[in-house]
This record gives sequence, C-alpha cells and structure tokens, in this order.
Amino acid sequence: MQDRARAFRELSAEIPFSGNDGLDRLSEKRDDEAFVAALRADPAALTLVFVGDAPVSRQTAEGLDPWFSLAEAGRLGPVRETALLGRLAEGPRFALLLDESAAVTEGEPDPAAMVDRRPRRIPGRPDYVLGDLRSLAAQGLVAGRPLAMLAQAKSLLYWHARHRFCSACGNPSHTSAAGWRRDCPACKAMHFPRTDPVVIMLAVDGDECLMGRSGRFGKGMYSALAGFLEPGETVEEAVRREILEESGILTGKVTYVASQPWPFPASLMIGCFAQALSREITIDQTELEDARWFTRDEVRTMLAGAHPLGLSAPQQVAIAHHLLRAWVSATWNES
Ligand SMILES: [Zn+2]
Repeated sequence: MQDRARAFRELSAEIPFSGNDGLDRLSEKRDDEAFVAALRADPAALTLVFVGDAPVSRQTAEGLDPWFSLAEAGRLGPVRETALLGRLAEGPRFALLLDESAAVTEGEPDPAAMVDRRPRRIPGRPDYVLGDLRSLAAQGLVAGRPLAMLAQAKSLLYWHARHRFCSACGNPSHTSAAGWRRDCPACKAMHFPRTDPVVIMLAVDGDECLMGRSGRFGKGMYSALAGFLEPGETVEEAVRREILEESGILTGKVTYVASQPWPFPASLMIGCFAQALSREITIDQTELEDARWFTRDEVRTMLAGAHPLGLSAPQQVAIAHHLLRAWVSATWNES
C-alpha cells in the first residue's frame, strides 16, 4: 500500500524534514505499556538522542549517524524523556531527551556575545557530535528519513521540556502514552503535543511573484512572506491577511502547493500561491525591510546564485526555495 501511495510525485516529500511516510506510528498501541516495553526490549530498537535542542550523532566513515541503541544512549547521561517515534521495517525507533548535564561547553564565555555559540560535546566521547539541526540539514549531513525523524523527535521533546506543568491547574504533569501525552494527576487533564501552522506564500501576478526581506536575513536575500495562522482562520484567509499586512497587496484565489514540518520549534509550514489583485506595495516596516516583484527569469538567477546584483533566495532546506522552484518551473499551472 505504501508503494502505491508513493506512485505519484508529491512536492512535500522532496523537502527536507519531510519523509516520514511509511513510518508506523503505532498510535493505537501507545497506551499498551507491555507492548511498548516489548518494543524497548527489541534488540533492533534504536533511538535518537537530544541534549536540549541539539541532536547527538556519531561520526562514522560514512558520515553522521544519529541512531543509538537504547542501552548506549542511556549511558550518555540522565534521561529526562523517552518517546516512541514508531516502527520501521528495520525495528522500533525511539527519541530520548538527556539532561543538560550530559554535555559540557568548550572554551571561555564571550561576554560580548548575545548568544552563547560555544561548541558543546559529550565528555569522553570525541567521536560524538552535538549539532544544530538546522545546520546539519542545510549542510546535507543528515537527510531523508533520519532527518524527518529528527524533526519529529525535536518538536515532540521540545513540547515535553516546555510543558512540564499542567496548563489548567499548574501542578506537575507526567509523560504518558509512550511520550505522546502528558497527564495531570491533580485535575486529570490530558495534554497533547502541539504543531503550530504557519502559512508561507508567494503572491503571483502573471510572470512576477512577490518576495520580501527582513532585516534579519543575510545581505541581498529575499524570501516568501510568512506568518502564523491564527485561531478561527482558514489557510486561505491567513495567506491573504499576511500578504495584505506585510505588503499591502490584495490577493484572491489561494492554491496549496506543499507543506513541511519545521522543527524550530514545532511548526508546520503550509506553502501556497496567491493570485495578486493589486500591484502597489506598501511594506509593514516592523516586519520587512523591503518587498518587491520578481520576474521568473530573475528568480531563476537567484536560485542559481547568479543574480547580477547579488540578490539571493533561500537554500533548499527552506520550503520557500521549493515554492520558488515550483513557480519558475514550466510544469506548474497556476490557474
Ligand atoms: Zn491539572
């Protein structure tokens, strides 16, 4: 059945952090403690390991390997959370969050630094790498299903780390359902992991599309506009609202193109095109430094890194890159 499901081309499946199709999440078995214990005892069981937001990988001759046996992972430090990600044909797969004390930070702190970017490592394990997931993906050091499962694990473990207390009554909650729920023993509330939807889109007008740049972007980079979907809003409404707020452009028909799990910390990027109904741009200066229309030819040169003015588009790790590729490709029919 999975082969049949993959017989068609699906853009979402080609974007980094996706690729979990075919993982049996065993969602109906998560409350069966004996079943989950048997999976943990399976000699083929492997786990991903995180310290805070950083996945741990082993440096091998073939590249970085993020999979550890449960016994090996448990020896790296105190375990804070364990979750069952699901079962592959090769065996059960888990995710494990270690206490921050499992890692040490190298070098002296820089008092002038806004963010502490000193490298961290696991003591006594020079062959283990504590990486930043976005950098690992951007550099292609981890790809395909392992990257998709790292995204799944990171968002889930982040949720546990930030939801240790019941949001209804304030008492400590505990992990249940093999890592897919938190229960409050005081008020009996059950809490489930969150995914936050973000719309990301190109307003398109014939041979031109709209992109903007925030002051946080690297010099010359433009990208698709984006924003969080709000309560009580459809995807189409959020797309039209965000474009109008950020650029002053009115849009009509919205077409869904692709989605991407984005584990920073727990979003789903919903990529769309929106038909522009106006041309004159008025930027929201708190969000954007600039916004402008780009022709297909110009976007092609940006994607190829060959724009005459040095303008650039996001790298392939971002769904914006794939939206732009879909739009410039002759195969996309925007009507
Ligand atoms: Zn409670």
